[in-house]
Amino acid sequence: MPAYDTNNIFAKILRGEFPCHKVYEDEHVLAFLDIMPRAPGHTLVIPKAPARNILDIKPDDYAHVARGAHKIAAAAMKAFKADGITVQQFNEVAGGQVVFHLHMHVMPRHDGVALLP
Ligand code: IMP
Repeated sequence: MPAYDTNNIFAKILRGEFPCHKVYEDEHVLAFLDIMPRAPGHTLVIPKAPARNILDIKPDDYAHVARGAHKIAAAAMKAFKADGITVQQFNEVAGGQVVFHLHMHVMPRHDGVALLP
């Protein structure tokens, strides 16, 4: 597996070198809106620790991301009057990953409404 690339777009967002629409931040994670949302309120939760994906991250750091997604899911249910939430996390090219800083997708869902491709 390739090494973590410190120039990936989410690393730049963490360093403040690239803008984001911030939803939540604490000492361990940052959450911001996805630039190409697959559903209204589609949010990404990322660790502040540098980690390429689940194959690279320390278990405690992964737990921080899961905790962040848990918070965002509850808030998004209310904010978007959602009927459900989809949480997704892709790993390596074969696993559908495009940006190589670990991130969890949190997508509010509504009955009968499909995710955008
Ligand atoms: P994945 O690696 O397959 O999970 O896809 C990366 C996700 O990051 C996609 O949903 C993109 O729309 C999203 N994305 C890429 N660049 C940015 C950005 O600069 N800000 C917010 N979201 C982004």
